[in-house]
Amino acid sequence: MISLRVSDLKQYIYCPRILYFYYVLPVHRRVTRKMEYGKMEHIEIQKLEKRRGLKPYGILEGKRSFQISLSSTHLGIHGVLDMMITSADSNIYPVDFKHSLRQKDLHQKYQLAAYAMLLEEAYQRPVRFGFLYLIPSKTIVPVEITGSMREHVKKVISAIQNVVMGERMPAYVRSKQRCTDCEFRNYCADVG
Ligand code: SF4
Repeated sequence: MISLRVSDLKQYIYCPRILYFYYVLPVHRRVTRKMEYGKMEHIEIQKLEKRRGLKPYGILEGKRSFQISLSSTHLGIHGVLDMMITSADSNIYPVDFKHSLRQKDLHQKYQLAAYAMLLEEAYQRPVRFGFLYLIPSKTIVPVEITGSMREHVKKVISAIQNVVMGERMPAYVRSKQRCTDCEFRNYCADVG
């Protein structure tokens, strides 16, 4: 079993075929301007976050840590969390910086849940809530990490492992919008 990236969950929920191109049939990927711009934006947010208090998160006192590397052989995933808040009463919260304008997109929530599960294992304490930081609107969205989200994360990890081990191209998502925006569009011969 290979260790998957936390971001693979988001990709799989967007379209399972993306993971096939990434792991089974590796194709050339361009570093797009959007990706480079995204990295710069994350650095800017870190600077902004260091200057302000934790009130927008509903936390009175605590500290922030950035770029936390996490991995779990038990879950079979790894990733770098944008920010972690440790409150004065020792609770920990994952914060995932997002570029989407749409609040509470499904794939964003499950990625956050995966980070919460990684934090629980690394710090040996329960994580009940996390936050999505929506970059364009500078909005903070609290997300409860529920039992069903944890189960879904495990199901998606197992489904991705099946794609990788089975080496079969999954069916494409019937969403014109997704395919139009997708960087792998040229490799999907059956997408009209
Ligand atoms: S072009 Fe469409 S079917 Fe192909 S990987 Fe992208 S989203 Fe999936």
